[in-house]
Amino acid sequence: MQNGRFHIFTVAAALAAVLVVMSLGVRSQSQSSNSQPNVKPTVRITERRISTGTDPSPEFIEAAERNLNLKNELSWTFGGKQQRGWYLYDPLIRQTLDIDNESPTHDFTAALSLWQRQSGLTSDGVLNEDTLMSLISNWQTNRLKNRTAATPDQLITAPASEFYDPSRFPELRQVERNTYAAYKEMLAAAVADPSLKLEQTASGDLAPSENFFKIISAFRSREYQEELRRKSPNAGSAGLAVNSPHFTGRALDIYVGGDPVDTKDSNRLIQINTPAYKWLVRNAGRFGFRPYFYEPWHWEYVK
Ligand SMILES: [Zn+2]
Repeated sequence: MQNGRFHIFTVAAALAAVLVVMSLGVRSQSQSSNSQPNVKPTVRITERRISTGTDPSPEFIEAAERNLNLKNELSWTFGGKQQRGWYLYDPLIRQTLDIDNESPTHDFTAALSLWQRQSGLTSDGVLNEDTLMSLISNWQTNRLKNRTAATPDQLITAPASEFYDPSRFPELRQVERNTYAAYKEMLAAAVADPSLKLEQTASGDLAPSENFFKIISAFRSREYQEELRRKSPNAGSAGLAVNSPHFTGRALDIYVGGDPVDTKDSNRLIQINTPAYKWLVRNAGRFGFRPYFYEPWHWEYVK
């Protein structure tokens, strides 16, 4: 009897040992394929998809395909004008979603879906009219809020050499003081960035022969703005605003390529692809400047 019981215990102990070894084997296998064994599988997959872009779900593949089409074809309205696609805002969208220019389409879709969720939208990763309007509202909210006209003591006259058109009259070269100081700081950073290959003087200033980053227009008086509106009556509300941020002296039109201030899609397509514009999208915020999404050249100092 004793021997029999001992035998049963031995068999049971051996079986238990085998089971322990087997479960350890399974454990170590799952650990070697994944470094976070304690995270719930659903969470883990979502995080991996967003951070590395691998293994996109069928929904994201479908969303990425729809985005490829909507990027050029989405029909929407802004400033009383029919607009087509959102490709002109691609650099700003990518900056807002915090993804680089080269990210594959399913990375874009994943990042957009996250942004949509944070913004209370349907997080399907599709950049439709609803989502575009939310992005635009986000950019517009970040612009200059106080549009009180600058008083003369708030303005300084910038040197003619810093303007795209150096023959501009002194009264058209006025800039709000702090805006000008921030612009000079930003300009120094741009000139010092070798990737931009800006022509510079021996002392490290922007060379007179360089057009990129020069000021096209800054402070405008109400009278001058009215004159511009009279000259260009078809510009519409997306063009020359009645209550222009340029009255404050805190709005700068900066040369980013192409025809300096032409909103034609073909012109803006040239502008959004210049290294100067892409640099501004990435860096202007550090110096207190915010974009006006519709005009690649227009930047507002909001500090
Ligand atoms: Zn402007």
